[in-house]
Amino acid sequence: DDGETVVCEPGVVLDDLNNRLAGYGRKIGPDPSSSNRATAGGCVANNSGGAHSLKYGYIADYVESVEAVLADGSVVEFRNDFEPEREEDEKLSSIGKGCISILSGKEVVISKAIPKAARNRSGYAIAGICHKGKIDLARLLAGSEGTLGIFTKITLRTVAVPRVKSLLQLEFDSFEKMARAVPIIVESGAVACELMDRALIDMAIEALPEYRDIFPAGGAAVLLIEHTGETEEQVREEIKNTDSKVGKLACGR
Ligand SMILES: Cc1cc2nc3c(=O)[nH]c(=O)nc-3n(C[C@H](O)[C@H](O)[C@H](O)COP(=O)(O)OP(=O)(O)OC[C@H]3O[C@@H](n4cnc5c(N)ncnc54)[C@H](O)[C@@H]3O)c2cc1C
Repeated sequence: DDGETVVCEPGVVLDDLNNRLAGYGRKIGPDPSSSNRATAGGCVANNSGGAHSLKYGYIADYVESVEAVLADGSVVEFRNDFEPEREEDEKLSSIGKGCISILSGKEVVISKAIPKAARNRSGYAIAGICHKGKIDLARLLAGSEGTLGIFTKITLRTVAVPRVKSLLQLEFDSFEKMARAVPIIVESGAVACELMDRALIDMAIEALPEYRDIFPAGGAAVLLIEHTGETEEQVREEIKNTDSKVGKLACGR
């Protein structure tokens, strides 16, 4: 299907998987910075996200199915959005029914217990997995950190590699101004916004002196902001807008 979904073994390293998908103009959206050694299984079991989580969120949202070996040695292919009452696979059906009997009617309690933070990967992903007699069990396995089963095969949805990307580097003379700029940047549609504080900038320059040409000698922090899109014109316009909205919060204005 032109790389829109990929079936992989859990031991494949994320960068290797992405290199393979690049031939289709696709990639795995969530991009943990450990991707040169993190495996697909570890990423799903950890519900990984990355620098582009503003755009792509977390990997649990891309898991279509997970084949796993359970504690009793049985092998089950877990899917989303299936009806346990009508499921032919007996084991999957009975696990689905069991989960529904535990979770249904508890939606309000579960939703109240979940912190209203944009980033939260604690505990099992039980919120919203039961709906109208159906259940998302692949979603439940994502983020379960190896406690529910050993994954042996994973099917993931991929995303298109953006045609154009561009980076805006903004420098700040105080942490407070930098922090005030972040919500403006996030609302502007940036796909990534990474902070480098003074200590990190100094360490980068010490390790690679050529960074002196890129990073400021003074100042408290730098934000690296990425916009992506289909055309150069569109991305240039977005960068210009973000830059002007941040305005005098950044240095050199
Ligand atoms: C330098 C560094 C940078 C990082 N950056 C990020 C980041 O940007 N974003 C982020 O989300 N995380 C990050 N992490 C955390 C972590 O590396 C990632 O979340 C990554 O996805 C874990 O993959 P791994 O292969 O290293 O898994 P491991 O660390 O080997 O395992 C992680 C969990 O997954 C379980 N697991 C592994 N394989 C399977 C399997 N086949 N079946 C069932 N369970 C399994 C393990 O039991 C464990 O609980 C970073 C870590 C480091 C060291």
